[in-house]
Amino acid sequence: MKILLLGPPGGGKGTQAKYLINRLNIPQISTGDMLREHVNNKTDLGLKAKEYMSAGALVPDEVILGMMKGRLVDKDCNNGYILDGFPRTIPQAEGLDLLLEELDQKIDLIIVIKVKDDNIVERMGGRRVHPSSGRIYHIKYNPPKNEGKDDQTGEELIIRDDDQENTVRKRLEIYHKETSPLIEYYKSRSRVCHIDGEQSIDQVSQSIDKILS
Ligand code: ADP
Ligand code: ADP
Repeated sequence: MKILLLGPPGGGKGTQAKYLINRLNIPQISTGDMLREHVNNKTDLGLKAKEYMSAGALVPDEVILGMMKGRLVDKDCNNGYILDGFPRTIPQAEGLDLLLEELDQKIDLIIVIKVKDDNIVERMGGRRVHPSSGRIYHIKYNPPKNEGKDDQTGEELIIRDDDQENTVRKRLEIYHKETSPLIEYYKSRSRVCHIDGEQSIDQVSQSIDKILS
């Protein structure tokens, strides 16, 4: 099964992707995580992407499409995957369509997670992440067992530097302008399901379960 998670930054895409990995046994493909790995490893791509990411801007489409081209043919994608944070613009969606055509694949389901802008700002303020695994926590809504530490490894959690309020507002603006038109784009191409992302994390997972069954 090939699923695309669509929604604002901080909408809960990564959180639900982690749920779906276990539920469906398919990998999560997060362009944000892939980019952060490039930035940490100081690759050419990472050096190019870093300034866009810190400013809350989108990394150019051709960089993202180049990165994704190799990823979808990896062996672990044979039984499907969960796209998280890609595509984010119409040109990216068109590029993905071409890639899928070459691979004779199709996205089966688009899940749109809806959350109001003001709630997003609160969520991002409390987001904590475990960089090497991408595990996501929230100080109030999904706290780790030990404050500031990853549940599985005990390693330090970090605050992403693009989660400050002014950068978040900028990312939200870009979401409304560049990414939300994808909902309309996919309407005629795939099954599109909408979910109320303001429910609790478990309730959102349950809503996804209902769609899947
Ligand atoms: P969030 O989970 O909060 O939505 P991501 O981890 O998906 O954030 O993305 C972090 C940053 O990485 C984005 O603000 C953007 O700069 C860059 N990025 C991630 N995915 C894409 C993409 N598909 N196109 C362009 N930029 C991207
Ligand atoms: P995205 O990948 O869309 O940027 P995340 O999954 O990283 O979003 O979630 C952003 C923050 O909000 C995280 O701190 C996460 O723990 C928290 N969160 C996710 N879903 C919910 C929810 N349904 N209710 C409250 N907080 C949530």
